[in-house]
Formats: sequence, structure tokens, C-alpha cells
Amino acid sequence: MRIAIAGISHEALNTSPVPTTLEHFQVWRGRELLQGESLFSPYPAGAAAGAVDGPKYASLADMMNDLGAEPVPILHANGLSPSGTVEQDTYLRLRDEIIDGIQQAGQLDGICLILHGALLVEHIWSGETDLVRSIRAAVGNDLLISARFDLHGNLTEEFANKTDIWTVYRTAPHRDAPQTLERAMTLLAHCIRGGHRPRPVFVRVPMILPGERATTDVDPMKSLLELAVEIGRQPGILTAEILVGFGWADAPYSSSSVVVIAESEPHLPHARRQAKRLAQAMWDQRRNFTFDQEVASSADEAIDLALAASESCVFIADSGDNPTAGTPGDVPHFLSRLIAKSVPDAILAGIPDGEAARACFEAGVGATVSLSLGGKLDTEYGTPLEVTGLVEHLYQPEQAAQEPAIATLKVGGVRVLITDGRTYFSSLNDFREAGVEPLEHGIVVVKLGYLMPELRDAAPREILALTRGYSDLDFTRLPYRYLTRPIFPLDEEFAWSPVITNVAGYGG
Ligand SMILES: [Zn+2]
Repeated sequence: MRIAIAGISHEALNTSPVPTTLEHFQVWRGRELLQGESLFSPYPAGAAAGAVDGPKYASLADMMNDLGAEPVPILHANGLSPSGTVEQDTYLRLRDEIIDGIQQAGQLDGICLILHGALLVEHIWSGETDLVRSIRAAVGNDLLISARFDLHGNLTEEFANKTDIWTVYRTAPHRDAPQTLERAMTLLAHCIRGGHRPRPVFVRVPMILPGERATTDVDPMKSLLELAVEIGRQPGILTAEILVGFGWADAPYSSSSVVVIAESEPHLPHARRQAKRLAQAMWDQRRNFTFDQEVASSADEAIDLALAASESCVFIADSGDNPTAGTPGDVPHFLSRLIAKSVPDAILAGIPDGEAARACFEAGVGATVSLSLGGKLDTEYGTPLEVTGLVEHLYQPEQAAQEPAIATLKVGGVRVLITDGRTYFSSLNDFREAGVEPLEHGIVVVKLGYLMPELRDAAPREILALTRGYSDLDFTRLPYRYLTRPIFPLDEEFAWSPVITNVAGYGG
């Protein structure tokens, strides 16, 4: 059994002014896919998370070996950081290399795609749909295609018609990327071996949700995922999956969705009933999706709460400018409020500003510099902030193409981590590279939404500040142009009941 492995994984926020180009991707080709950690990132090694068991395999090669399948690794391009719309030429180069690789791979029994689900491409819209359309044009309709997704993806009906199996992360914050790929690959191998032609039943649920309102350790997502797991175990059903969606992307097909995949045609009527059941359950909960953490309505309120806290360290997420949702990440508003309030001991992680970082590196550790900081990429929500501070630490990474340099500048009581490119601080080590130990400081402001697993586990207290920006957690404040209406919560009062929206779901 020979299975090709390929994919383009990226989360693109089309309202962001920073386009995504080839240098924003890390690309693995051929055997590199089997060796790298990209597909089996080890967090948290072997541990269970929510409704998900720990990964069964240590590597992709181990898994393929156990399945008795020969991997045919083609190419995987992974966005280094979420950002704006992917330039068409960048996408086409990656796509065409995948198609060429598949065409030159010889006899194949299946294809497993590694996707995110929010690959928005200039002039093309859904990159995942275009990719699967191009693959079908190259290989025909008989070859089975499975795919692995992040749950923050938006799928189209065409994708659902052209793909046989897809599996979706069941944790947010994400801890189950390897398990999700494991499911996509195992189900594919099962269908190839058994001669099954799966039938996905896709239901689009007309709602958009920020990931922060749909974390998976709490209800309603926790119960919805338990229902999906239960449905997936029923006879004749391969799996049931839920996509929360990526509501910040302003696309006609942005929405939540569910899929229930029948093992074969005879099981379709049952799969249809279960897909409608799962979609209805999600819709019924639409008003109950809420933040699983403490919330502050502004930067000032968050800072005041943290200053009054009994905890030794409080993490605050500046959620309106969250680069992990694709924003530029250089709005200095939060920094200006920390300085204005004379906060004695804080870290601001971080501000991407190449010019300012260069000035710090040129001045050297111990020098005092005056800078015009941030507000250069995001001119909609940010304006440059004039600061004077002491250069405390300089970090030059070994792999400069994949990791930014960091200058740590102390402005009053605030240590600002200035990077020479867009990035985000999601692990304790990211801070250590900048010469700071985050847990030893009173306030740590991060440009994130929810904290990533390692920070979430380490933070004594976590506050989500509902600041303004391209990743505003209040969708009703964003100027959508392309979204299909009505959609909750932009439209509050409209009747809806589940409708199967893909042709394959009717047995066509
Ligand atoms: Zn995600």
C-alpha cells in the first residue's frame, strides 16, 4: 500500500495588511517529512488531552510502518506564523510542486494531505479547495484522499465533494496534531485495505466563533466533541468531526461546520441522521460559547486587575492584535498603557519592528536608545510610539531565516521584546532567548489569544484583554464584506435547521 503525503498548512487572515510569501513558509521535501518534528510535534509527549488519547507513535515513519503502508513523502509547507492572504504565485509554486510529485510518484493507493483549513489565497480564496481540485484533475476520482485539519478552518462544499476523509484537531489550545494525522492516515489505510469508498456528510453551521470562545476543555465544546467521538464509534461511521471555523477570515464560506463520514454508501442514511444531529447540537449551543478564562474589557482594566493581584505573576493576552490569528502584531497600544500607568515590573512580548531592532543591535547592550516603535505594519489600529530605554539583552538566532532576532529594551519598568520580524511568544524558552524569565515578573503581556499549552500550564493567572484590532474577539465590531449572511452572531434572530450541503453526502 503506497500513500503519498503532502500539504500546505497555513492560517491566513485576509484582512491583515501583511501578505504571506514563500519566505513565510518552512518547506520539507521528500524524506525530510518523515524525519522532521513538523508532523509529530511532541507536545505534550505521550500525554492525553481532553477527549483525546496520547499519540500512539513516535514518528510518522513508525506509524506508516505499523500500518504496513509505504509512505511517499512529497512536500509539506508550513506557515511559520499566521499572516495575511497568501500571494498567488507562492501558493501556485507549492501546489504545482505537490502535483508534480504526485504525478511522478508511480502507482499510489491513497493520498494524505496535511492542511490547516484557513489557507486563503489571493484571487483563489480557499487554497485547500483549489489543491484538492488540482489533485483530482491529476489523479482522477478513484484514488482515496484523506486530510488532516486544524479545527480553526473553513471548508467549502467543493472540498467536501472531492475529499473522502478528513479529521480535525479536538483540542484548543492544540495538543493533538499527531493524533489527528494518525486518525486521517489510519482511516485511509483501513479504507484502502477494505476496499471501502467513504462518503462524507458535510453540514455547514451558520455561525462564526473565535477560538477563545470554543476551547475544548470546557463546555459546550467539550460535550460536543464527546458527542462527535460517540458518533464516530457507531457501526458504519468512520469518524465525526467538528470545525469551529476561522471567523476572522472574511470569506463567503467562513463558518463552523461538521462532517460525519460513512464507511461506504449503504451507511449513508445513518451518517446523514448523525451529521444533522451533531450540527443541530452545535447550533443549539450557539449562545453558550464563552471564554474559559478571566476577561478584561480593555488594556487599562487588565493592567489594573494585574496590579491588584495576589499572584506573583499575571499573564495578559492583548487579544485584538494576536499574530497567531494572522495580525501584524505591532500595535503598541498596550505598551503605551503600561508606560502611562508606570507599571513597575512588566514584560511586553513583543513588538516586531526591524528598524527598531536594528537600532538596538547597533547601539549594543548597556546603551540608551530612543526609538519610534511599532505601528508600522498595522497602521489601521496602531501608530508608532516614541520610547527611550536601555538595551538589556540581544539575541541573535542560529537559524535567522526561521526565527527573529530579539532586542530586550527596558523602558521604565517595562521590558519590551523587540523582534526583527513577525513572531509570537508561546513558550517559556521563547522568553529565555530574550534574556527574561517570565514567571519572575509581575505582568507579562503577550500578543496572543488564549495562551498556548506550555504558558497556560505555567501561568499563575491568565487574563484575556478584549482589545481592538484585526483579531478582535467581538466579531460584531469587525467590518465584514464577503461573509454569507445570515450568520450568528452578526445576525441574531433567524431560523435554521441542518441541511446537508455536499453532493457526496447524498450518495452522488
Ligand atoms: Zn487553530
